Amino acid sequence: MSNAERGLSYNSYWLAVLVAGFTALMLYMVTSLGRDIEKHALEQPIYHFADLLNEQTINTIDQIESAVWVKNNNQNFGLTDASQWLKVDLPNTQNSQVLEVDYAMIDSIQLWFRRKNDNSDYHPNSDSDYRIVEYFNLGDGLKFSERPIIHDKFLIPLPDAPEGIQLLLRLQSDGPVKAPLKLWYKQDYIVYTASHRLFMGLFFGYMLAMGIIALFLFVTTRNVSFIYYAAYVFSFGLLIGAIHGLGYRFIWPQSPWFEERAAAIFAFTMMSFVLLFSSQILELKTQSPKYYLVFKVFFIIYALGTVCSLFVAYAIMIKLLLLLLLFSIPVILLVSLTLAVKGSDIAKFFSAAWVVLLFSGLTASADNFHWINLPIDSSYLLMVGAITETLLLALAVATSYSVQRREVKKAHREATENELHAMRAQDDVLALQKQAQISLEEQVMSRTQEFEGALAGLSKVHDELQGMSETDTLTGLTNRRFFEKHIVAEAARSRREKQPLAVALLDIDNFKNVNDSYGHQCGDDCLIAFANALKKIIKRPGDSLSRYGGEEFVILLPDTTIDGANKVLEKFRLAVHSLVVETQGQRIKFTVSAGVTSSVIVADNEWDKMLAFADKLLYQAKEAGRNCIKSGSLQ
Ligand code: GH3
Ligand code: MG
Ligand code: MG
Repeated sequence: MSNAERGLSYNSYWLAVLVAGFTALMLYMVTSLGRDIEKHALEQPIYHFADLLNEQTINTIDQIESAVWVKNNNQNFGLTDASQWLKVDLPNTQNSQVLEVDYAMIDSIQLWFRRKNDNSDYHPNSDSDYRIVEYFNLGDGLKFSERPIIHDKFLIPLPDAPEGIQLLLRLQSDGPVKAPLKLWYKQDYIVYTASHRLFMGLFFGYMLAMGIIALFLFVTTRNVSFIYYAAYVFSFGLLIGAIHGLGYRFIWPQSPWFEERAAAIFAFTMMSFVLLFSSQILELKTQSPKYYLVFKVFFIIYALGTVCSLFVAYAIMIKLLLLLLLFSIPVILLVSLTLAVKGSDIAKFFSAAWVVLLFSGLTASADNFHWINLPIDSSYLLMVGAITETLLLALAVATSYSVQRREVKKAHREATENELHAMRAQDDVLALQKQAQISLEEQVMSRTQEFEGALAGLSKVHDELQGMSETDTLTGLTNRRFFEKHIVAEAARSRREKQPLAVALLDIDNFKNVNDSYGHQCGDDCLIAFANALKKIIKRPGDSLSRYGGEEFVILLPDTTIDGANKVLEKFRLAVHSLVVETQGQRIKFTVSAGVTSSVIVADNEWDKMLAFADKLLYQAKEAGRNCIKSGSLQ
């Protein structure tokens, strides 16, 4: 159980105590009022005759045999079409006394004060032994202004009759017929009326206040339950007002037509609104759609009843109402009790309200039929029930409203939390994205570094491979492949800078013989020694010596004229001539021949021709006896 719910339960205990206290106060008030009324009930035996065929009149009533008149001290005859006759002999009445018929909704009361004829008064034409002293025609079927005493109850002034007088009453009504008769001294009645009015004033003031507060609450909160509640309170108040004759006295005194229908109209209206606001505050629509449907059907019937009350006879409508109440109130109570058992605070208040009203209604009925004898007037008891019910229903509405508000607040809070959550999630996503970006960048960087490293390694390997592919493994000199690339570049440069480029081809003389005489290994060693000897002579960085293949070598001398080249080659020839290769216990000597040419390159592929020319010169040198240099220019 959450804190809020626990708080509500504590509150509901306090409120229950408050309601009980308020009810007790009301009961105390009506008990003291009831004692007042009880004292003034007629003590004399009252005789009753029910005229089922409605055929008796004042002229024929005395022909009814005395045995048919039944002693009856409970002037409550229920719903009946029959006219009810009451007869009581009152000893010693005074003009300072009034008779009260303590029920405001009888259609017709005919009342005669009669005195028994003595011999002197004998009228030969009359069938009756009685002489009529006074006759009153009352009832709410007549205009209010026609009453002998303008009062919400039926009050009849008593004649002065020290010798006693007979009271004869004929009652007729579409609704329940009852006529509790009370005899008052006028001053006592004034005293009683003061406290009665105080109670009535309290009741209507209370109902009005509750209704108006509910209306204000509706205006400020726009919660429709409050307006249903207000409508219920006003129609309940008007119903009680109609039952007690106050509506007719103060609101519609000119209209007996409305007076006849008022109670039915307000009862149907009240029940319509009760059903509307109960299904609203019990949230039947969402909580239990089955009950919602039942309530809706009842509501429609009651609402139709309100309309029908305007046209259909009161006698029919009141029976219909009682029948409907018999079905609907247990259903309402059952539904709210079911929901209360499930733990709804609203349903608890609601059930309590209906239990109170039902209990006070049943008690009032039981008292009416004299099954029990209460010290309280039953109509007051019903009003106390109404007050308590109204209070409990107000608590139910208030609770429902506070629950709704709490739910709205909760929903609002949840929405805010969700929004916050979403925002946080978004931030998280952004942070993750950023992180991912950073790590991606880092990864890319590290991969790039790795890649660059690999690339550097690769280019190194490539260089190495290239070097390897352009180097002669035996002598360590550059090879023919390198030379062919190199001569293209140097030719282009010569052409660009218009400087002479010298090319020389060298071939070791009779090398076949070396191999044949000393073996291939010695030949190799000679080649190595030859290369090393020549390397020492090449000084300029631009000059290059490459192994052209076998025992043939090629020399490129950029920026070198034919004379310069001749000199370099002469140095070579001399160096080879004086070279002694000592290997495998042998001392080997050999010579070299060369062809050299130099020119400024002026056309494409000129170097090709130069090389061919150098080869030709080399051939000439061989022809000339070897160990010599042959030089020449192309042009
Ligand atoms: P010439 O004076 O006319 O140049 O006679 P030569 O014997 O030098 O010429 P020839 O072209 O007839 O023979 C070249 C010989 O050089 C063939 C081969 O035995 C030898 N030779 C070529 N390349 C190598 C090598 O890499 N190692 C060794 N040991 N001998 C080689
Ligand atoms: Mg050769
Ligand atoms: Mg040779």
